[in-house]
Amino acid sequence: HACKGKHVHHVVYYPQLNKHSLLRLSLMSELRSAINDDQLELFYQPKLDLIQQKIVSVECLVRWHHPEHGFIQPDDFIPLAEQSGHIRALTEWAIDTALKQKKLWLKQDIDVQMAVNISAVDLIDLKLPAYVAQLMTHYALQPNALKLEVTESAVMAEPEQALRALCMLNQMGIKLSIDDFGTGFSSMAQLKKMPLDELKIDKSFVLDLNHDEDDEVIVKSTIELAHNLSLSVVAEGVEDLATLNKLSAFGCDTAQGYFIAKPMTVQSFNDWWDPIELIKQISQGE
Ligand code: C2E
Ligand code: MG
Ligand code: MG
Ligand code: MG
Repeated sequence: HACKGKHVHHVVYYPQLNKHSLLRLSLMSELRSAINDDQLELFYQPKLDLIQQKIVSVECLVRWHHPEHGFIQPDDFIPLAEQSGHIRALTEWAIDTALKQKKLWLKQDIDVQMAVNISAVDLIDLKLPAYVAQLMTHYALQPNALKLEVTESAVMAEPEQALRALCMLNQMGIKLSIDDFGTGFSSMAQLKKMPLDELKIDKSFVLDLNHDEDDEVIVKSTIELAHNLSLSVVAEGVEDLATLNKLSAFGCDTAQGYFIAKPMTVQSFNDWWDPIELIKQISQGE
């Protein structure tokens, strides 16, 4: 890549090799050791069931504690992991870590479904279903202890292959969620075939829901569409009570966002977790 433009006379200048892309290249090559050297950590963000008024699930979101560059957000390295082929190892690490945490929480009477994000690359063969099956046996967990969140665009990249992988996971009883709904170009005909359980409305439609009439129309009709397809609906990016109440009124099943809680370390999650206090707080807004 960096060699393009080399034919230009004597001056060898690689415009792409600026500081930023050098950083990208070095991060890419460091990902493998990051996974092996314990530099990755999962943060957990609760999903609130609006009908039962309780936390039923947590989304597991990866962060990278880089020895030199500090804390790196997933949007800055997941694409690199996808391009460099490290994503499979990362996904396996994430599912394993999430299920290990699930076992620990069960001992503390915290019974939440673990929702892990997967990428398009994870869906192109059947290694993922086989790996998941092995882990579920290893940890002796019910299959619905795990939910996999996959974006619309990941499913649409190779719809046939994705369908095979998703069907295997579904037959095992693993729950499946379509993430960032509304941001990709998906064919409803393809989507209809997928054995999905949940649809997540992207936060770009939710963040301003209380002030934007277009968002209101989009969110309302997406909830209706999902329910007509027998999918449960999660709205992500809920940052205030007014939005939460609006979503309840629209019949949305589940809410996730900073208003409920930010993604947290295990330690902060344990400090935060207090089912009785939580119900009180939520019902204050009714
Ligand atoms: P996502 O799966 O759509 O995750 C939701 C993102 O929205 C998270 O960002 C979360 O912190 C953020 N968020 C949640 N509530 C709010 C809110 O109220 N307001 C705002 N402004 N943001 C909110 P995060 O953790 O930075 O993750 C970004 C994306 O990175 C995720 O989007 C997911 O696509 C990807 N990702 C994260 N962890 C993994 C992983 O382990 N594997 C893969 N393949 N992708 C991951
Ligand atoms: Mg997600
Ligand atoms: Mg999302
Ligand atoms: Mg997203």
